[in-house]
Amino acid sequence: MKKIAVLTSGGDAPGMNAAVRAAVRRAIYKGVQIFGVYNGYNGLISGNIKELTLGSVGDIIHRGGTMLFTARSDEFRTEEGRAKAVEQLKKHGIEGLIVIGGDGSFRGAQKLTQLGFPTIGVPGTIDNDIPCTDFTIGFDTALNTVVECIDKIRDTATSHERTYIVEVMGRDAGDLALWAGLAAGAESIIIPEADTDMKDILERLRSGHRRGKKHSIIIVAEGVGQASQFADVIKAETGWETRVTVLGHIQRGGSPTAFDRMLASRLGAAAVDLLLEGKADRMVGIKNNTIVDVDIDEALDQKHQLDLSIYQLARSLSI
Ligand code: ADP
Repeated sequence: MKKIAVLTSGGDAPGMNAAVRAAVRRAIYKGVQIFGVYNGYNGLISGNIKELTLGSVGDIIHRGGTMLFTARSDEFRTEEGRAKAVEQLKKHGIEGLIVIGGDGSFRGAQKLTQLGFPTIGVPGTIDNDIPCTDFTIGFDTALNTVVECIDKIRDTATSHERTYIVEVMGRDAGDLALWAGLAAGAESIIIPEADTDMKDILERLRSGHRRGKKHSIIIVAEGVGQASQFADVIKAETGWETRVTVLGHIQRGGSPTAFDRMLASRLGAAAVDLLLEGKADRMVGIKNNTIVDVDIDEALDQKHQLDLSIYQLARSLSI
């Protein structure tokens, strides 16, 4: 392979830039030309493809978002759209593609490999919902953002003696809510992977109140429902002042943490190495601090497993 390309797709995540940088620098280090595809799969279809140099990825390792921009492409979901994409890649003489994104983007990558175009997936999403990897790029940064926000909410919650219900992103996965809940010392954590026991949540609130606790913070993963629904129940049952905070897209932004920069650098470089070894239809990931690669089809057949022992730990510490 002499020419490869990289794109970012789906929801953006802090650290995507560090992954692009790593892919570009590793390719050039190995004597391979590398192109950036702009606006995800849309740019692949329209041919928005430009060569990247060492300098084009300078000064981005610390920036959130993605310099290649990202998009959701309905056209790429069609056979015609994908045929156009492959045509564009061939027109540029590109022989392999790295897709940085979430599981939707991986399904797109899978379709490209089925068309005979070698593709490697790099997991980039704040949701941490990709199977076969302990972490996805962006999760740690989003986690730190959520914890920082909850710390601030705690200050005002204590001052006003209020109960706060904080809604956290994560799509169908509860990882962000769970890890943030444990790290920020929330009273209760409501996630899709565990049954919601409203009686238990209320009992925990009441017992905290009895021993003079000035505030309570409950974290709700967006995959479970809206924080306001839970706030209504708590207010109706306890009569206490209850406030809702939906953290929203603030969780997607910001400078990536050192952990995410490390992960992105390792995964971006590993993806290039795999392509140059002639591999295709694989995703890279991290398991027990070791970079691994697995079959994308196998990974997409599995469901991401949240570590329920963390949930049990959080429950035992928030008594
Ligand atoms: P994420 O990668 O963050 O999960 P999406 O689910 O929105 O984000 O997927 C990103 C893009 O990947 C979609 O807009 C679409 O272009 C492409 N994609 C997703 N699923 C498929 C599929 N089954 N076949 C082809 N392309 C897909």
